[in-house]
Amino acid sequence: MAQRWPLKLMCCFCGDTVEQEHPDPCTIVVSNVDDHWQQFYCHVACIQEHLVKSARDELRIL
Ligand SMILES: [Zn+2]
Repeated sequence: MAQRWPLKLMCCFCGDTVEQEHPDPCTIVVSNVDDHWQQFYCHVACIQEHLVKSARDELRIL
């Protein structure tokens, strides 16, 4: 069973609510050279739409 988050999630790309139904939610992690990181929620469709084709082709988990 997929993990469920207790709060309403907002997509970092479109700003809409991310329903917790397969295949959503998706998370992306941004990190920097200082090893700080932050996680954002998004729709699977939104991240696929915003990636260039070569990156989208490398996205194997969605
Ligand atoms: Zn979205």
